[in-house]
Amino acid sequence: MRPKIVAGNWKMNGDQAFVHDYMSSFNECWNEKRLDQFTDLSVIIVPPAILISSVQENAKRVGVNGRFELASQNVAEYSSGAYTGEISASMLKDSGCRWSLVGHSERRALFGDQTIVIVEKIKQLLTEGLRPILCLGETLEEREQGKAEICVKSQLESVLNAFSVSDLRKLVLAYEPVWAIGTGKTASPEEAQAMHQFIRSVVASKSQDLAEAMIVLYGGSVNSGNAESLFGQSDIDGALVGGASLKPDEFAEICAQCGQSTVS
Ligand code: PEP
Repeated sequence: MRPKIVAGNWKMNGDQAFVHDYMSSFNECWNEKRLDQFTDLSVIIVPPAILISSVQENAKRVGVNGRFELASQNVAEYSSGAYTGEISASMLKDSGCRWSLVGHSERRALFGDQTIVIVEKIKQLLTEGLRPILCLGETLEEREQGKAEICVKSQLESVLNAFSVSDLRKLVLAYEPVWAIGTGKTASPEEAQAMHQFIRSVVASKSQDLAEAMIVLYGGSVNSGNAESLFGQSDIDGALVGGASLKPDEFAEICAQCGQSTVS
């Protein structure tokens, strides 16, 4: 069985006071739900970069440190130099991140993160030994036009073609239909499973072995009410959670449901 991951993307939310309260509450929820028992589950928190050290300090303060890993929401496509406002992969590594999101639909739509940029960002992460979580997903228009698979295939192939199988083993994929992000509309478990299976078949055209090992998360309005049925699908290996990850009890419950799917 593939290991499971639940990652919580805070997007551009939170401040020092939020982190303080969040970590206290997350620690309590962690212990209540005995999340330590799920050894095949990794929990990742994806705060805004400026809050990464605060998350670490507060995690130590309450004792939940070492139980989750940290990811960045973004990374520069360059290694260092005159790129005002950017944060390099080596800086992220230095501040304790082990992961970074790449190609989130908000980055693609609002900040021009297209294929070439995404490939460069992945190169930077791999050079520093960080693991990319590559987000893929179609818009509502593409789905309605019957082009969802074509869209996801093209996003995925542009990355598969740029890296060796050994580099691609460090990637995690996140299928996030754009129409489901922050909208309260989730893909049905069957719709999500069908796309995850399709994604795995595209990866298999590069390497069958890679396809079987590849962790593919689902993202798009995941919450504690719909998570269990999503985690029950054979090709869904966890979740990338946005809005619901801002509530520590809700996020911990999603983690627990994912963990439960590894033991039942
Ligand atoms: C996301 O930001 O990756 C996401 C899936 O958001 P939400 O869960 O709020 O739809």
